[in-house]
Amino acid sequence: LFAGETRFVKGVVDMAGLPSGDRPEVCFAGRSNVGKSTLINALTGRRALARASNTPGRTQEINFFALGEECYLVDLPGYGYANAPLPVVEKWQRLLKSYLSGRQTLRRAFVLIDTRHGVKPVDEEIMALLDSAAVTFQCVMTKADKVRGAERDRVLEQVRAALAKHPAAFPEIVLTSAEKGEGVDVLRSIIAGID
Ligand code: GDP
Repeated sequence: LFAGETRFVKGVVDMAGLPSGDRPEVCFAGRSNVGKSTLINALTGRRALARASNTPGRTQEINFFALGEECYLVDLPGYGYANAPLPVVEKWQRLLKSYLSGRQTLRRAFVLIDTRHGVKPVDEEIMALLDSAAVTFQCVMTKADKVRGAERDRVLEQVRAALAKHPAAFPEIVLTSAEKGEGVDVLRSIIAGID
């Protein structure tokens, strides 16, 4: 699945802009700065692929990438900007809600959690949204290289406890470091196994 070409399809600002749901897709959600672009680039082996989503003006778009012709990889806008104006946040939440509850071909959401920070209240909100949309989601820990030993175990315990409260949560947590390449293969094979 990841051997072929990955290409940027489009950035979407409303439901009408969605590409036709003609193949399975997985989406990536996470607080801004969680390492989402870096991870998507590591997964696809393209250095600058997800950079488009971080340029000003594109941060509120849902970005679609095609893995060959087989699957869409969907980069959701980062949430939890400290200074985002309320109307922007509300518009984003409406789009996110419509996308998550209305997209028939969405197979799984990956909720990215910074290993240094664990699950924050905004992450819980996304998880609750995924529960109500009945979208199976899986936690992916990012920047695992920054946290070791007992501290890492403590964070994982906190994440497990948080997941236990969400019926749509997949129990297995994926630990990754895009920097060190850790867990990237595991995540690739999870995505390849979704149909
Ligand atoms: P995004 O806003 O979620 O797309 O986050 P970015 O991918 O832009 O990453 C935010 C910051 O975290 C950048 O400075 C990255 O270099 C850094 N970062 C991302 N992944 C890792 C990782 O696996 N390990 C470390 N140590 N830093 C990372």
